[in-house]
Amino acid sequence: MTISPEKQAKVSRILNFSCVDGPGNRLVIFLQGCNFNCLNCHNPHTINHCNHCGDCVEPCPSEALSFNDKGKVIWDKSACTNCDKCIEVCRYNSSPKISLYTVSEMVDVIKRNSMFISGITVSGGEATLQLPFIIQLFESIKSDQSLKHLTCFIDSNGDLSSTVWERVNHVLDGVMVDLKSWQKETHQWLVGKGNHRVIESVKSLAKLGKLYELRLLHIPGKSDLDTEVASIIALVQSLPKEVLIRLNAFQHHGVVGEALDWNKCSEKEINRFHALLAKDVEQKIQLPGIYT
Ligand code: SF4
Ligand code: SF4
Repeated sequence: MTISPEKQAKVSRILNFSCVDGPGNRLVIFLQGCNFNCLNCHNPHTINHCNHCGDCVEPCPSEALSFNDKGKVIWDKSACTNCDKCIEVCRYNSSPKISLYTVSEMVDVIKRNSMFISGITVSGGEATLQLPFIIQLFESIKSDQSLKHLTCFIDSNGDLSSTVWERVNHVLDGVMVDLKSWQKETHQWLVGKGNHRVIESVKSLAKLGKLYELRLLHIPGKSDLDTEVASIIALVQSLPKEVLIRLNAFQHHGVVGEALDWNKCSEKEINRFHALLAKDVEQKIQLPGIYT
């Protein structure tokens, strides 16, 4: 039997506890890198991998950034105060604060927290860009007696084919998928890619019984899920009734560029969208909790 080498992931952040990234209490692993370029992104520094240009080295007030002998920018976590000056100056939607984790190193992190959580969620960026790591990590969790109680979830933009979901299906418990617009032209404008594969992912995951949550984004006057509500209702009606529908109201937190000039989605606006959907779908619809 061939034993595949241990995989490694580029991790931007680990959150030891979250109750909004899937069911129960969850440890969330945010991976660096995304294949969408959303105008409304709340974490634009997670989109690209660092190109080691060095622009952030000198502005760091804590001397936590330096060059190694190969000219690569390295981050000294122990000296970092998390002031985020480096993220502010980076022109490439990236961050130097990335850590590499092998599967066994990540399993150790999970073991230290396993008493307090009901599962783990791998998020991003776009988590599935590092799918071989995710598969090996989930396989390790499922085969470890002390971690077997943990559920394994992925938070995804859905831009991948059904055959890829089938590759991870044997160790997958659930997926949250974001749908940001219905018309492919609007989706192309908003995220830089069409939404054909996103909608296919929603349908494929529902068929596999692994679609936990469908997230619908409402940006008043910009996204089109409210004006295309008949199509959204038809999609939701085709899904199992256990699937949770979560409404996301666009806010300005973390956003950069032109999206800062867009109107935020008010509670009144999201309630209007909710009312349009709720009368025709069976699924539970979760409203946002925070408006900034
Ligand atoms: S967040 Fe960035 S700029 Fe601030 S101390 Fe850490 S490495 Fe330096
Ligand atoms: S994080 Fe950004 S500014 Fe810093 S070295 Fe990487 S690409 Fe350059």
